Amino acid sequence: MSGNESRTQAISQITNADAVETSMTAPMKEIWGCDVFSLKQMEESLSKKAFKAMQKTVQTGAPLEEATADIVAAAMKDWAMSKGAKFFSHIFYPMTNATAEKHDGFIVSSPDGSSINEFTGGLLIKGEPDGSSFPNGSLRMTNAARGYTAWDPTSPAYIQHTANGATLMIPSVFMSWTGEALDKKIPLLRSNAAMNKAGQKLLGLMGETEIAPLNSSCGAEQEYFLIDSNFANSRPDLLLAGRTLFGAAPAKGQEFDDHYFGAIPERVQVYMQAVEDKLYRLGIPAKTHHNEVAPGQFEIAPYYEAANVAADHQQLLMTTFKATAKEHGFTCLFHEKPFAGLNGSGKHVNWSVGNSTQGNLLDPGQTPQDNLNFLVFCGAVIRGVHKHGALLRAVIASAANDHRLGANEAPPAILSVYLGSQLEQLFQDIKDGKVAATATGGEMDLGLPQILNFERDPGDRNRTSPFAFTGNRFEFRAVGSSQSVSGPLVAMNTMLADSLDWISAKLEAQLANGVEKTAAVMAVLKELMEAHGNAVFGGDGYSAEWHTAAVEERGLKNIPTTADALPAFNDAEVVELFKSTGVLSPLELASRYEVYAEQYVLSIEVEAKLVVEMATNTIYPAAVSYLSELSSTSAGLTAMGVTLDAGIATEIAGNANDMMVTVAKLSEALEKEDFASTDVHMQFCANEIRGLMDTARSYADNLEGLVADKYWPLAKYREMLFIK
Ligand code: ADP
Ligand code: MG
Repeated sequence: MSGNESRTQAISQITNADAVETSMTAPMKEIWGCDVFSLKQMEESLSKKAFKAMQKTVQTGAPLEEATADIVAAAMKDWAMSKGAKFFSHIFYPMTNATAEKHDGFIVSSPDGSSINEFTGGLLIKGEPDGSSFPNGSLRMTNAARGYTAWDPTSPAYIQHTANGATLMIPSVFMSWTGEALDKKIPLLRSNAAMNKAGQKLLGLMGETEIAPLNSSCGAEQEYFLIDSNFANSRPDLLLAGRTLFGAAPAKGQEFDDHYFGAIPERVQVYMQAVEDKLYRLGIPAKTHHNEVAPGQFEIAPYYEAANVAADHQQLLMTTFKATAKEHGFTCLFHEKPFAGLNGSGKHVNWSVGNSTQGNLLDPGQTPQDNLNFLVFCGAVIRGVHKHGALLRAVIASAANDHRLGANEAPPAILSVYLGSQLEQLFQDIKDGKVAATATGGEMDLGLPQILNFERDPGDRNRTSPFAFTGNRFEFRAVGSSQSVSGPLVAMNTMLADSLDWISAKLEAQLANGVEKTAAVMAVLKELMEAHGNAVFGGDGYSAEWHTAAVEERGLKNIPTTADALPAFNDAEVVELFKSTGVLSPLELASRYEVYAEQYVLSIEVEAKLVVEMATNTIYPAAVSYLSELSSTSAGLTAMGVTLDAGIATEIAGNANDMMVTVAKLSEALEKEDFASTDVHMQFCANEIRGLMDTARSYADNLEGLVADKYWPLAKYREMLFIK
């Protein structure tokens, strides 16, 4: 196709498309969790004894006997086959942000040609994907391919349907033959265990006698863009990189602030409902959906669940969104910054910890000054953010998320913690050694009798903070939309475990000296705030003043790029943190640095190659075609005695030439190989390669504004964002 043909075809296909066939969805009680091998399902299909054992494992993480696994396997197979499944698969979570699965049939054939269906406890418990091809960061040599997957009974198995079949999916961990974690689930489970151990100890010191196992919870708000597939498929950058590498700003963007919470376009709402229907069948509690800030941008938030289950559900949610989008003629973009100049997408990870005896330990209650359990847990988080800010930045680092963080839009690349006015004052008071009763939000009274009065929250919200307290949980807002929530959860649980231990040690010393409990807690928290209170910030995180003050006065780190952030994995303090808590061995941690650094370099190199290709094969030819038309028209006009001003042609030629000069430099930069270290290679990508990509783009975007519309080959921002 030449000129703007693919663009105009896409527009006409969208304009003339038939509506997607829909049917009313089934009532909730018929579909909720119907494809999940849940506790309820187990109760129906297992013996009483086996069910009790499974329930204990699911609820407390207690070990399961092999004999029980055999019984569970048989019941699971029968249930899955009754749903049409002929295959089963361990699903696991390698160090990419994606999932991996290897399907096996239940079938076993006999020499006489007959077949039986078999699924033993052994098959349920252990799988062996032949995969040396998963990222392992030197934990395995390519010739040492053996890896194991192992059933995680604490995350429920479920059925994955396709148009003509069904597969039993079994959430699993993934490890090397030598037992090192090759996935995102093992560290998450270990971090939860470390947090539980440290939490138990501290709660014991606080005088609690009955203490149930502590678990972390996660509710993730997921932002995404929807683009008509006709456009997405027509643009090599959207197809291969998930974001636009070129594209001039449209006349209208998000400046009217009319999209956020606006009326949802019907086509989109039909899609959302179709997705949610599938999520409900999978037992994923989709709760909220709305328009986001940028045109074409939306959000979904499921209700929070135990962190391990929430993490698995979050991956399944993303897969479901992508697959369902295809059925509706959309492409769902989870990229952190698909469109320059418009808001990017994040994933707000809401996180809390608690148990069934003490409840949510991050719930301040009505009188937080008297809620000592809350104060020590909240204090532990403050210390964690201060001490391990660089780690928190590192676990959300990616080539894509760099376009948000540090790029004066979404949360800044400086890790601080927002508490809200009430708690900020309380912790300041603790630091000053004079705790007083805290102010409440007071009553909201509009003076309109028909509007009922209500109790206002004790603090406002702060959307510029990367890490904010929001009433009964912390919200890590800087996480990227395409990222797994596991990395952030691991970092939060682990830093919390470490801080809880620190508090325990201090508290033990105080109590041993005969100090009374409340006074001892206050003394420890005073010391904590003196050392770590600098991380608490309630102002505007986007402002230039904060960027200066945070670094110069508070000693916090501003870490703008992934190249600057990932080396934190090699810091002695971080190595020790993971080692002492048993979450990651030094070897496992080092492998993560290697894997994520490689992913960073690769994604930038792929994008850079695409810039070269699109500039050379698509954009330059469009500019030249238009120049050719201008030149022949101009020649014709001159013959008639009319002169056409050469201004536009000169500008086009100038931009086209400059773009190609930059592209040549970019190609040359991509050839470079001899880097002294991975850190140096990442810095080269962050600065040289990205710099040249941006420069090439600026010339190309100028050309978009100069070249006649009929020659422009790439779908424009206005078309992709506003045509529904
Ligand atoms: P908002 O946009 O106002 O921050 P949403 O309702 O969109 O809130 O999402 C908030 C998320 O936080 C939801 O997933 C919700 O279930 C979750 N959440 C609520 N309470 C907790 C908690 N105690 N621990 C973890 N997550 C929570
Ligand atoms: Mg939120």
